[in-house]
Amino acid sequence: MLRLTDLKLPLDHSEAALTAAILKRLDIEAGALTGYSIAKRSYDARKRGAIALIYALDIDTTHEAELLRRFADDPHVQPTPDTSYHFVTQAPPKLSQRPLVIGFGPCGLFAGLILAQMGFRPIILDRGKGVRERTKDTWDLWRKRHLHPESNVQFGEGGAGTFSDGKLHSQIRDPLHHGRKVLTEFVKAGAPEEILYVSKPHIGTFRLVTMVENMRATIESLGGEIRFSSRVDDLLLEPAADGRQRIRGVTLASGEQIRADHVVLALGHSARDTFEMLHARGVYLEAKPFSIGFRIEHPQSVIDSARFGPQAGHPVLGAADYKLVHHCKKDQDGRGRTVYSFCMCPGGTVVAAASEPGRVVTNGMSQYSRNERNANAAVVVGIDPSDFAPYDASGGPLAGIALQRALESRAYVLGGENYSAPGQLVGDFLAGRASREFGDVQPSYKPGVTLGNLDSMLPDYAIAAIREALPAFERQIRGYAMHDAILTGVETRTSSPVRITRDDSLQSLNTRGLYPAGEGAGYAGGILSAAVDGIRIAEAVAQNIAGN
Ligand code: FAD
Repeated sequence: MLRLTDLKLPLDHSEAALTAAILKRLDIEAGALTGYSIAKRSYDARKRGAIALIYALDIDTTHEAELLRRFADDPHVQPTPDTSYHFVTQAPPKLSQRPLVIGFGPCGLFAGLILAQMGFRPIILDRGKGVRERTKDTWDLWRKRHLHPESNVQFGEGGAGTFSDGKLHSQIRDPLHHGRKVLTEFVKAGAPEEILYVSKPHIGTFRLVTMVENMRATIESLGGEIRFSSRVDDLLLEPAADGRQRIRGVTLASGEQIRADHVVLALGHSARDTFEMLHARGVYLEAKPFSIGFRIEHPQSVIDSARFGPQAGHPVLGAADYKLVHHCKKDQDGRGRTVYSFCMCPGGTVVAAASEPGRVVTNGMSQYSRNERNANAAVVVGIDPSDFAPYDASGGPLAGIALQRALESRAYVLGGENYSAPGQLVGDFLAGRASREFGDVQPSYKPGVTLGNLDSMLPDYAIAAIREALPAFERQIRGYAMHDAILTGVETRTSSPVRITRDDSLQSLNTRGLYPAGEGAGYAGGILSAAVDGIRIAEAVAQNIAGN
């Protein structure tokens, strides 16, 4: 098979036009084309009113060898790459000890799945509940203002991305095509086939719930074991010969001990108590940069028409997304902040994403159809450990968590101390005055939004940076700084505030047998990258156990 890339056609082209374009580009007769499939489809929306679809196609042709010779110098005509997944090893016939995976989010799920597929029968622990019960608990916060600290948007089967937009793109380097393995497993578990070829695939919340259950069943059918409501509260450690320490197992909140010499730590970014425990146990951690800010909501129609012009609403395009960055001018300390949009959810809702009582955090989700009225995205400012000092003068690795907690507690107070989120209209935010009533945009955050002034919500430098960025974003998307668009707060869980640093063998720098992984360890930032990291970690664990 050969891969033909960068083939452009108008948005409304027919199938016959695609076939004709292939024949013309390769300069072959119809009889020489025995079939083709779409490897990737994206669009180029730079020309208003003339959006083009761009294809990468896998071509079956009777003239393959001749064409590859003829187009040898053409980067757009190449042999189709092998993107299939190859297991690095198999479990020995007598498995003396099963690996342990802590966390059943995308990272732990894929670490567990790959280990199970290689025959290692992993034991997987998650502090939260199975996804159906977890869904009910999560809705308790959204509908009844009742937070379940162990079963919520962050904790439980499927991890943080279960109630999400289910965006599945990532900019990670992926030379071994592990991302393809992730997407293929998702399709097997019930995701739409199109995620294999559209350039920015998404799944939406509703399907994710069923897919996660199907993947759990696959792991169990291969001899894996998944235990919910099983929070790891401590590590069993012993000194190692090289002056480091070695893990021998874990202790659960129930007091039960589970022995294991290989432990994958796929905690996600919200397991603050577990980070504290790791620090107390001497596992090497360091503070890392992350971002803080607000969620912004606009009518989806405003975003669609700014991005797609007269072709807005075309079914192939769906609801429009965006990605914005603004580099601010230097402040009085000589620092130029960067403000950017993050986790944009077209046609979605803003969700309450707290996991600790007395704190408010926002995030976004959508369904597959992306047909809710509003578009939402985080608008956040990058911060680094030098910004954490006012919240934790120790300068220790957990200082970023202190900052997150302080902002989330402030959001809770500004929201009215009942899990409503504090909010402000963009026009009022830019003018520096409190908002009193909603305009044309109704906020989607449940259980509610309390209008006021968000100036005290974030450090002054962050407020100033967002104030500078919104008019700059308006220049890229007309309507972005519209008066009635709504800001809600606070966005603090953009990525992990810590890194659980690992070495070349993917083990903790100072704790042998401990494999920090995924977003919580600072090695991923999204569903796909966390899942890919889970595969890499599973391979490292498997090779270590198998001794190759
Ligand atoms: P997590 O998914 O956070 O999973 C960690 C798991 O570990 C949790 O289930 C938790 O219960 C468990 N755990 C923690 N501590 C312990 C312990 N001590 N003992 C036992 N278990 C423990 N990303 C995207 O790519 N696309 C999106 O559209 C998207 N939308 C999002 C929407 C929302 C509302 C949220 C909250 C996140 C969204 N994300 C999205 C981010 C994405 O969900 C995360 O990047 C991803 O889930 C990280 O995967 P992970 O496996 O590393 O960690």
